[in-house]
Amino acid sequence: MKTLEQQVQEQIETQPEFVVLLNSHGIITFSNQDWIIYCRNHLLSNYLWEAGRDYLTFINDNKMIEALHYIKNVLSGDVMEYIQFSSFQTKQNTKNFSIKYRQFQSDDGDAGVIMHIQPIEFSPPEALNKDLILENMTDALYILDDKMNFQYLNSKTESLLNIKKEELLGNNIWNMFPQLVGTAFYSNYKRARKEQTSIQFAEYYGPLDSWYEVRVIPLADGGLAIYYQKIDNYYTTDKKDYSQGCTDYLTCWSTRLNFAEKAEQILQANTLFSLFYINLDNFKHINTLFDHQTGDEVIKCIAKKLEEILLPNELAGRLDGDELVLLHVHEKGENPEFFAQKVTEIFAHPIFLKNGQSIIVDASIGISLSSMESQSINEMVTFAETAMRDAKKQAGASYSLFQPSMAKDLSRRLLIEQDLSGDLKANGFHFALQPQINCSTGEVDGIEVLSRCLHPELGHISPVEFIEIAEETGTISHLTNYLLNEVFTFINSNKKSGIELPKTAINITPSLLTSKIFFDDLFQLMEKYQIPAEMVELEITESVELTVSEITLQNLRACRSKGISIALDDFGTGFSMLAYLMDFPIDKIKLDKSFISKIGYDQKSDAVLKSLIQFVQSIGCKLVAEGVETKGESSFLEMSGCSIHQGYFYERPLLPEKFIKSYILEEKFKVLKAI
Ligand code: C2E
Ligand code: CA
Ligand code: CA
Repeated sequence: MKTLEQQVQEQIETQPEFVVLLNSHGIITFSNQDWIIYCRNHLLSNYLWEAGRDYLTFINDNKMIEALHYIKNVLSGDVMEYIQFSSFQTKQNTKNFSIKYRQFQSDDGDAGVIMHIQPIEFSPPEALNKDLILENMTDALYILDDKMNFQYLNSKTESLLNIKKEELLGNNIWNMFPQLVGTAFYSNYKRARKEQTSIQFAEYYGPLDSWYEVRVIPLADGGLAIYYQKIDNYYTTDKKDYSQGCTDYLTCWSTRLNFAEKAEQILQANTLFSLFYINLDNFKHINTLFDHQTGDEVIKCIAKKLEEILLPNELAGRLDGDELVLLHVHEKGENPEFFAQKVTEIFAHPIFLKNGQSIIVDASIGISLSSMESQSINEMVTFAETAMRDAKKQAGASYSLFQPSMAKDLSRRLLIEQDLSGDLKANGFHFALQPQINCSTGEVDGIEVLSRCLHPELGHISPVEFIEIAEETGTISHLTNYLLNEVFTFINSNKKSGIELPKTAINITPSLLTSKIFFDDLFQLMEKYQIPAEMVELEITESVELTVSEITLQNLRACRSKGISIALDDFGTGFSMLAYLMDFPIDKIKLDKSFISKIGYDQKSDAVLKSLIQFVQSIGCKLVAEGVETKGESSFLEMSGCSIHQGYFYERPLLPEKFIKSYILEEKFKVLKAI
C-alpha cells in the first residue's frame, strides 16, 4: 500500500504547479519535477529544490526573515496557511514568486510544510491574468509599479474595491483613491518602499466603511505587492474614532487630517499656542538595523512619554512614519522655549525595548507660534517643519524656533525641489570633472564627476544643498540618470574624436544603492553609449544601507561582475568603518579631507593617517587622498605611501570642455589611456 506521503507526491505531480515539501526540520523531502526543471533552467540555487537540502538555513542565510517566520508558524501550528510574495536571485536577475505555505501531516506523524510556488512575471501585465493561483487566492492582491501605478490586480480586489480592472490599471493609486493620502495606508506604503521592508497593519478605509488587514511587500523593481483582507468588527474599542479614519493605529493619536481639523478650531479661537514638529533622527536606521516591529515599539514608547507632558486641552498627531506633531497651549506670558526643553528632555533618556535592549533616539524639533500671523494650521505645520530642518543641522536632540527669515529658505527649497523633478538641463544642472593625479608619475589616474547647478533664478547652488533635497524627495534617480546620460554622451563623443578618457567616477547616494531599477538603467545606458565597464567607477558612501542591505550587496556584486569598480567615498567619516570593509566588494578607498587637512598639525593624527594608509594597502584596495590643498600635504601623503591625490593643489573641478582643453590638448598632466 502506498504511504500517505507517496499519495501526496503522486497527486502533486499531476498538478500544474510547483510544489516543495519540507519536513519538520525544514529539510526538503520532495520537489515536483516541474519545479526542479524550472530551477535548473533558471539557474536557481539547489537549496530551493534538492531533496536533503536545508531550506530553513538557506532562507535564514539569505535574510528572508519573513519566510522563516511563516514556515515556523505553520510548522508549530500557530497558523494553518500563509501566502507570501518572495524573490529569489539567479545569476542574471531576480525571480518573483507567490508562495503558499500550508501544514501537512507527514508519515512520521510530524507536521511538515507544503509550499505551492507560482512564478510571477511582471511584464507584460497580461501575463498575470493567467495566474490561476493569484486569481484564486483567499487574499485580495494588487501590485503597484515603482511609480505607484496599478500594474496588476486580482478579481478579489475588483470586487472588494467595487471597481473594474480597466479603470485602475496604469493609473496612480493616490490619484484614484485620494482619500488614502495621509492615512496609515499612505505612510506604510511609503515606508515599505523607503526601508525595503514588508509591513503588516490593520486600517479603516472610510469610503468603503470597512477595516482591512494589509500586508505590503516591497518588490525588487521599486514597486509594491499588497495583499489584504476585509476584516469585520475588528476593533470594537475606540471604534468611533477608528471608523472615522482619524486615529493612528500605532499611537492612537490623530492622523494628519484629523489633527489639522482639531488644531484649526484652536487657531480660530485665537488661543496662543505653539506647534511642535518632531522628526526622529536616523529612525530609518532603527528599522534597518533591528526590524519594523522594533521601530513601531520605539514610536509607541516615545508617543507615551510625550503624552505625559501634554494637558487634556492639547493635541498630538502622527503625520507620517517618524513625523510627530504636538500642539501646546501657552500659559499667559509663557516663554516658548520652556516647553521645548521639556520635549527635548524626553529624548535625553534611552528607550528600553521589550527584548531588554536600550536605544537612544535623537529628535530634531521645529516650533512655530500661533502669534506669527499664520493663516492656517497647514501653514503653521509647514513653518514648524522648516524650523525642524534648521534644527537637524545641529547634532543630537535639538530644537529651533521658526523665524520669518526661514520663509526664504522654505521658498528656495520648494523651488529647488520642484526644479529637480523637471527639465534638468533647462534648470541649469550640469557637471564638472576633477582629476585624480598620481603625484609620483604625473599621470591622471581617474576623474570624478561632480554635479553643478547654475539656476536661472537662484544662481549657483551647491551640490551639497540640492543632492540632499533630491535624496529626501526621491528625485535623486532622475538627477543621477540625467547626469549619467550627459557624462556618457560626453565620453562617447570624445571617443569618436579619438580621445579616450580615464576611468570616470560617479557619486551614488545611499537610496540608489537599494534600487535594482537604477542599476538596470545604468547597465542599459552603458550599453547604449558603448561605455566599457572598466571606464566606470561608482563612489558610494559609508552608510547603514551599505552594511545591512542584501539588495545593496547584490547590486554591488552585479557591478563588480561586469567590471565596474566601486570606490568608498569620504572614508573615515561614516558609519561602517574598518570591520565591514572586508565583506564588501570595494576596489578603492577615498580618504576624507578631514584627515588630510590635519596633516602637519599634530603628531597623533599624522600617525593615525599613516596607519590607515597601511591598513588600506594591506587589504589590497587602491587609495586616493581627497581635498589635497598644499604641497606639504601632497609630499607627506606620497612619503606615507599614498600617491594618488584629488584636490585644489592640482586642480579644481573643471567644466568638461575646459578639462579636455587642459588635459588632452595642452597635456597639463599626462592622461592615461583607459585599460
Ligand atoms: P564628494 O563626493 O566628497 O566630492 C568632493 C568634494 O570636495 C567636491 O565638492 C569637490 O569640489 C571638493 N574638493 C575637491 N578638492 C578639494 C580641495 O582641495 N579642497 C576643498 N575644500 N574641497 C575640495 P562639491 O563639488 O561641492 O560636492 C560636494 C558633495 O556633493 C560631494 O562630495 C558629493 O557628496 C556631493 N555630490 C556632488 N555631485 C554629486 C553627484 O552628481 N551625485 C551625488 N550623489 N552627489 C554629488
Ligand atoms: Ca565623491
Ligand atoms: Ca568625498
